[in-house]
Amino acid sequence: MGKRAFKARFAAALMDCVASIGGMGTLYERIKPLAAFAGEVVAETLWPTRCAVCDVLGKVLCDQCVASLPYLDWWRACRRCGAAYGYVQCASCNPVALGLVGRTELPFEACTSATMFSPRTGKIVRVFKDQGERRLASTMAMMMQRAMPPDWAFDVIVHVPATKAAYRRRGFDHAELIARSLSDRTGIMLVDGLARPRTHDQRKLTGAQRVANLAGSFDAHPDACCGRRILLVDDVYTTGATLCAATDALLAAGAREVRCLTFARV
Ligand SMILES: [Zn+2]
Ligand SMILES: [Zn+2]
Repeated sequence: MGKRAFKARFAAALMDCVASIGGMGTLYERIKPLAAFAGEVVAETLWPTRCAVCDVLGKVLCDQCVASLPYLDWWRACRRCGAAYGYVQCASCNPVALGLVGRTELPFEACTSATMFSPRTGKIVRVFKDQGERRLASTMAMMMQRAMPPDWAFDVIVHVPATKAAYRRRGFDHAELIARSLSDRTGIMLVDGLARPRTHDQRKLTGAQRVANLAGSFDAHPDACCGRRILLVDDVYTTGATLCAATDALLAAGAREVRCLTFARV
């Protein structure tokens, strides 16, 4: 286990320890914030915060790295699927490309991403998801909010839920953390719109295998979606198969329209 992952586990374990004396009532309520603060101080002293990309001390993502990430230029991107240079002619969502994944049209109204997937943005995603640096969620959400076209309007935010295996492995739902932070920033309500009862891990599958693995793998909750304009949030757009399957479920549950937003775009 790396230092970052250990630090996150240490803080969580300390809070669990304090919670275990919950039976002590008022005293527990009084010492809880103090214990949390003390835990943070100890963890920060032993394993100081470092930039996820360049490892410099100080912030989870230093100012220099924030300034030099490969941001996706919306003016050059495909208005429909968000491919980085697809404004004039998109190679990702034309009829031939969609035919390969068994579709004639994309189910979502539009998609955009904050950055292009690169060694640096990939490292941010890895440190966030696999090394448990949850504080990156708010930095990623800040970049995603900036990337959102100004004419996009929504009623609710929905996140693409992690598979059960991924949730067990990490102990948190990465897209939910980003979506929660986006909800705090925009004031748009986050709703629990999707469930993922039976998907296998996507990471080692090819494009066609991903589509087959995902078919019918999401359940949407009609109470949360019906008649609403939805902002669907995920961390990375890889082949688009996950966002398409999630959008299918939301539309089937009565959503009025779905637009997708991710941190990085492959
Ligand atoms: Zn840095
Ligand atoms: Zn496109």
